[in-house]
Amino acid sequence: MKNAGMDGSRMWWSDEEWARLTDATACGMCADAHLEENEHSVLVGSTVTTHTRLVRNQAHPGYSVVILREHATDMGELDSEQLSRFWSDVQRAGGAITTVFAPRKIDYLVMGHRMPHLHCHLLPQHPNDDPLRNVDISDGPSFLTAQELQQDLRALRAEWGAPE
Ligand SMILES: [Zn+2]
Repeated sequence: MKNAGMDGSRMWWSDEEWARLTDATACGMCADAHLEENEHSVLVGSTVTTHTRLVRNQAHPGYSVVILREHATDMGELDSEQLSRFWSDVQRAGGAITTVFAPRKIDYLVMGHRMPHLHCHLLPQHPNDDPLRNVDISDGPSFLTAQELQQDLRALRAEWGAPE
């Protein structure tokens, strides 16, 4: 059954669709967040709480995601220690991105209405980005060569893994 509004426009997921999306046993992120490589990104590093991944679409150089290891739909499901570790890992990833890619600013986005497994997008804004534009994580796409991607990954891993 299509969940359409009066004017035919798309409305929010039906209960069935949302139940399917939030089902851990069918979750795409649970399936591939830990892999060295997947369709969307490559693994920078993992902690007990999260996986940090460099996104293949590098329209914003340094664009990465930090993904909670366990399946949670919303931050409200985390206890204070988990929540603190999650944001601490986001900060760590942001620090590594700042060192390697020198953005003017990193936008931190927690959305999850299409992929309801808790993750934070780290979207760097660079000197050639218009600061008045709305954020669009699908900018581009702009894909690096395999060699360039490995180069960025190595640099990011070195910073991410460096002692503080
Ligand atoms: Zn999941």
